[in-house]
Amino acid sequence: MTDSACKQRTILKGYKTELRPNKRARAFMGQHCGAARHAYNWALRMRSDYYKRTGQTLSLSDLQREFRVYKKQAGNGWLLEVTDRATEAAIRHLHDAYVQFWTKIPGPNGQPRRFPKPRRRRGGGRFTLMILSRHVQRDRIRLGKIGWVRLKQRDYLPADCGKKNITASVSEVANRWFVSVLCPAYPKPTPRGGGDLAVHPGVRNLSVRSDGVKAANPKALEKAQRRLRTLNRELARRKRGGQNWKRTRQKIRKLHYRIACIRRNATHEMTTAAARDSGADTVVVQKWDVAGMAHTSAPTRSVRRTINRYIADANFYEQRRQLQYKSDWYGADYLEVPPAFPASKRCSACGQVKKEFPLWKNDYRCEECGLAMDRDENAALNLLEGASRARLEGGET
Ligand SMILES: [Zn+2]
Repeated sequence: MTDSACKQRTILKGYKTELRPNKRARAFMGQHCGAARHAYNWALRMRSDYYKRTGQTLSLSDLQREFRVYKKQAGNGWLLEVTDRATEAAIRHLHDAYVQFWTKIPGPNGQPRRFPKPRRRRGGGRFTLMILSRHVQRDRIRLGKIGWVRLKQRDYLPADCGKKNITASVSEVANRWFVSVLCPAYPKPTPRGGGDLAVHPGVRNLSVRSDGVKAANPKALEKAQRRLRTLNRELARRKRGGQNWKRTRQKIRKLHYRIACIRRNATHEMTTAAARDSGADTVVVQKWDVAGMAHTSAPTRSVRRTINRYIADANFYEQRRQLQYKSDWYGADYLEVPPAFPASKRCSACGQVKKEFPLWKNDYRCEECGLAMDRDENAALNLLEGASRARLEGGET
């Protein structure tokens, strides 16, 4: 274990903000998205064709070289118009997707990576390119051949961050354009001394902590989800492909984006509070086995829906991921309790473990000692015991 005071260092932090492109930049960024997708799919085809023919793998540099030849062929002039680094990055991403698949590194949702498949047009475009850090300024950013694009928010992106080259990723969601840049950041460790703090993702709350602090699901999220159900019903009534259908579909896309934003903000607030502000020495979470919780036998449809949404929602993986890196940033230790530990089934007062305790039951009642408690509060308290056991078994990370 290192002394927390020594933990300060440089990390790479993503800063994402909205662009305010003019008509020309908007069209050109769209062309970059198309070219990046084309290069990605081209590289995927090349690699698999080559493998089928020869049983050999094309290396990344082979692919990049071949693509430079391909771009100059007749009919591919539009690829020459876009910034080279955007198509190069797309080919590198395809290469990385292969490597991640074969090395079995889990994806952002904690599930195993799937074999790379072609990128499709629908669902918003994106591209990535390296830029010079001096091309990030307080109110504008220069993106290769696209040139300078205005930023909606001033002074958010770290201008001229000191690193020479930085990665910029541009993406489009519901007709809005965003850029994300990776810049060095220097998080400061905060005072410690609060002992263990367990964070348990709740069924009806975002999370419940062992010190009793609950992070509620934002009201705005519930409201947006209700509205989403209404809109989905509306879409089903419309004639597919018609004007009204398109209009409703656009509304749904916007709402999906809004839901993702609300949830992201709430999750970030919660994990920062736990890892930075709580002053805990160690942040304790349980490593969940998501695949093992796929089914529920809840009695009514609406409860079933709540539970299934909860399980399908990758948010608890995201919570864990954020708690881990933020603990690291702010100088707390981080400990994972193994999935086998019965956090929900165990009584936090007497240690009795129930045989069954389905997800849809809200109140934990112990037959042995009579404890009556909210299920998630009880689970969070149990994780403290899980942490001591993990330490005894030498599982500290
Ligand atoms: Zn008990």
